Amino acid sequence: MSEHGHARAYATCAFCPKVCRFACPVSEATKSESLSTWGKMTEAFLVTEGKRPLDRDGASALHACTGCMRCRTFCRHENEVGYALFAGRGAALEQKLAPEPVKSTLETFHSHHNPFGRDLGELVARFRPDSPARYALFPGCTALLKGPGVVEDALFVAARLAAPMAVCKLATRCCGYPLYAAGEGMAFAAHARRFAQALEGYPELVVLDPGCAYTLLVVYPRFGVEPPGRVRTIYDVLASHLGHAPAAPKLEGAVAYHDACHLGRGLGQYEQPRALLAAAAAFVLEAPDHEEEAGCAGGGGLLPRTMPQVAADVARGQARELAPQGQTIVTACPTSRRMFERAGKPAEDLVTLLRRWCEKGG
Ligand code: SF4
Ligand code: SF4
Repeated sequence: MSEHGHARAYATCAFCPKVCRFACPVSEATKSESLSTWGKMTEAFLVTEGKRPLDRDGASALHACTGCMRCRTFCRHENEVGYALFAGRGAALEQKLAPEPVKSTLETFHSHHNPFGRDLGELVARFRPDSPARYALFPGCTALLKGPGVVEDALFVAARLAAPMAVCKLATRCCGYPLYAAGEGMAFAAHARRFAQALEGYPELVVLDPGCAYTLLVVYPRFGVEPPGRVRTIYDVLASHLGHAPAAPKLEGAVAYHDACHLGRGLGQYEQPRALLAAAAAFVLEAPDHEEEAGCAGGGGLLPRTMPQVAADVARGQARELAPQGQTIVTACPTSRRMFERAGKPAEDLVTLLRRWCEKGG
């Protein structure tokens, strides 16, 4: 959908008395009215209505959104602001006003079919399975490239929980989220169609990165593409296999759980990661704002590329809320874990914590 398909969402926000003013992690981190949900959507409204031309500052505002959906929680209209703003970014691209990091991300994506400019085939080959497995695992390119240890941990835990997984060949492809977040709607839809075709060989796909799972399950259908088979998060699968967990003592030491935006608000998966954590950890801290109201780690919507300092500030602020005493933050999102670490906070992937627990069981 182009930015014009979001006219109602833009108008609703532009005429809103800023009900969700406090909810946006970007405006909280920057203390900027023009980067509030209302400010960004008003910019999109004025530009699409032809009331003022887009300029560099306006284009920058359209990119100051992680797509975290936190504003939606407090919105009577349940406005999908990230979806609308990402579409609005298309106008910035057309008018050559998109921030440089967006342009370079797209150039990289179009030449390598992923945002990192690497051959994912080599990385996937490292996980070639010795024998067939029950589940096909799609780790996502961030996990493969930036933290392959988390993929090893996922495979280890899955085996221990009698849910053997193997990294599948499909993992050599990116789901296309960067195209969506950059506002290249048509290129994203074409990419999604190709990806869905390749998915036909997989009656059931297990996804490690909740951002990828959200893209396949929520964003693809918005662009008219339905994944042909069943797509599940790894947390859903592992939670359903908890009955096979080893008799291991729980890990000592308090950890703070972070509800990743795409897993929580995006896919409504709050119980599964908590069930896994409750089995493995003796003390789990819940932030005052959790589940639907949970904060954002700043990693979505290309924000770490367009506004790296703001993204780090968002992560730092969220870490303070989650773990005021500096406890380790546990998250089911490899990108969020990296964001917390970039902000100088101790953080661990949920599957890594689960592995430590399983190992205690011998
Ligand atoms: S998202 Fe909803 S509450 Fe927030 S500014 Fe828009 S209309 Fe108002
Ligand atoms: S989706 Fe998140 S980052 Fe974007 S405007 Fe809403 S609260 Fe802010």
